Amino acid sequence: MSKLGEFELIQQIRSSVIVPENIQGIGDDCAVIPQQEGYETLVSTDMLMEGVHFLREDVNPYQLGWKSAAVNFSDIAAMGGEPIGSFLAFSLPKNLSDEWIARFMEGYQAISQQFSFPLLGGDTTSSLDRICICVTVLGKTKKGLSRKRNSAQVGDLVCVTGTLGDSAAGLDVILNKRERKEDEHWLVNRHYHPTPRLFEGIELAKTEGVHAMMDISDGIGSDLRHIIEESQVGINIQVETIPLSPQLRRYCTTNHLDAIQLATCGGEDYELVFTVSPEAEKQITVAHTIIGTVTAGNELNWEGSNKEYLGFRHF
Ligand code: ADP
Ligand code: MG
Repeated sequence: MSKLGEFELIQQIRSSVIVPENIQGIGDDCAVIPQQEGYETLVSTDMLMEGVHFLREDVNPYQLGWKSAAVNFSDIAAMGGEPIGSFLAFSLPKNLSDEWIARFMEGYQAISQQFSFPLLGGDTTSSLDRICICVTVLGKTKKGLSRKRNSAQVGDLVCVTGTLGDSAAGLDVILNKRERKEDEHWLVNRHYHPTPRLFEGIELAKTEGVHAMMDISDGIGSDLRHIIEESQVGINIQVETIPLSPQLRRYCTTNHLDAIQLATCGGEDYELVFTVSPEAEKQITVAHTIIGTVTAGNELNWEGSNKEYLGFRHF
């Protein structure tokens, strides 16, 4: 780790965090969080390894700080949860500059403040040569109201927030070092600067008829299979209804790419996908697009396409 030393770094982090009055965050052996009657706690953790999830020479530390929090906040959003706080554990190589760490923390704190998701603790160690970042998030929902993958019902509509495939196209811009005009900048920003759909998730969880929900991290071609397996249902997707941004459409036309392929298999969108009864769907105020229906059986069908969209697999 840096010259700054672990102690000073933790002090700096501590002084930049805004913590609700009833919570004790950084500074003791544990954080102390009051339990709230009638609520359940949601916990999720994610690890980011240099060389596996990002390349130090490519990534801007501010964006990495933002994104490592964003992907975790998105898991709380996926359950319909409200934020409690996050924990940040990192191993930092000795040759990493103080400036790098400061920029990383700026990105992490920017998103934490935007979504009122206070940093409540963590751990800081040095590593031999690679950066490793592990974020744990805590959220809450009213008892029994978290939205799981196992609750889809036959006859439900399948809906998504936002547009799909932008992040994958942004990655394509980066990897192929394409010239960046307005569209390319917008797509790259969607890749590095995802917006966790926390407000949308909380709002959706208030509607009784919203059954299964999850966030889209590997692309719907892969993620929908979790709902299929956990809920023991099938899903039909009407391919032409998948929401695509104009930026993505133009980019794919120019570069001879299949926009549907990116939208279904690209991953890292961090939008929400949920199933909802047709009656309840009419009451939803959160912006969303209907892309399919839940059916009996156990298959994922792509209506209007003869392709099979599989989504991203980690191993
Ligand atoms: P301990 O010896 O109990 O592990 P540390 O010296 O590691 O204590 O941490 C002291 C305090 O600083 C704890 O409250 C811990 O949660 C917090 N902390 C350590 N590293 C980080 C970090 N990277 N981000 C936020 N809080 C941290
Ligand atoms: Mg420690």
